[in-house]
Amino acid sequence: MAIVAHPDDAEIQCGGTIARLVHQGTVVSYVLCTSGNRGTSDLAMTSDQLTTLREREQRAAAALLGVSDITFLRHDDGDLAYAALPLRQELTRLVRQQRPDVIITHDPFAGAARYEVCYLHPDHRAAGQAAFEATFFCAGGPLFYPDQIAAGLSPHQVAALYLMMSDNPDGCIDISDTFAAKVAAIQAHHSQWGRQPDLEGFFRCMAEQAGARWGVPLAEAFRLMR
Ligand SMILES: [Zn+2]
Repeated sequence: MAIVAHPDDAEIQCGGTIARLVHQGTVVSYVLCTSGNRGTSDLAMTSDQLTTLREREQRAAAALLGVSDITFLRHDDGDLAYAALPLRQELTRLVRQQRPDVIITHDPFAGAARYEVCYLHPDHRAAGQAAFEATFFCAGGPLFYPDQIAAGLSPHQVAALYLMMSDNPDGCIDISDTFAAKVAAIQAHHSQWGRQPDLEGFFRCMAEQAGARWGVPLAEAFRLMR
């Protein structure tokens, strides 16, 4: 289960990994905390129109990676930190329902204030924090949100979290074979990336940097928590 703040976050940060997982037979689902309903500079665009557009782009992008199970929670873009408790409750419910082995989400434990870290957007940190709390503490504990247990859900403990956009990655996934699929999936987010002149080169550079430390040509780096 990939829990991300916005449409395009999954494709950008872990799209190659997801394509590889799907290719290996793993079932992958997405949870979108927001639908990116403020991500525009177009004065004629409304928030509702943008939600519709970006959810459509997200479904198309996910389909290119082999993912069809997407939950849109539709919190307001940019305000995720102020929805921390309801978000944690919703994510706990989804984890108890879908019972994933592994969660991929944003690293909430940012270190040095560099451009790359999730400080870049407050929603990334907020999504990662809520996902970490929901999956590591709440979903497995029956006294967290006991109404969910009373309604028939069972506690569930995930085996691992892969934290993306991390300041302190401790490993990487080789995406050499799935890099092209990743770029195609990012291109499906046309409202965000349609004007990028060299999308392939931009993300190739990012993938080269992510893998350099481990001698992997094209990679996505993660911090693994078991
Ligand atoms: Zn984002």
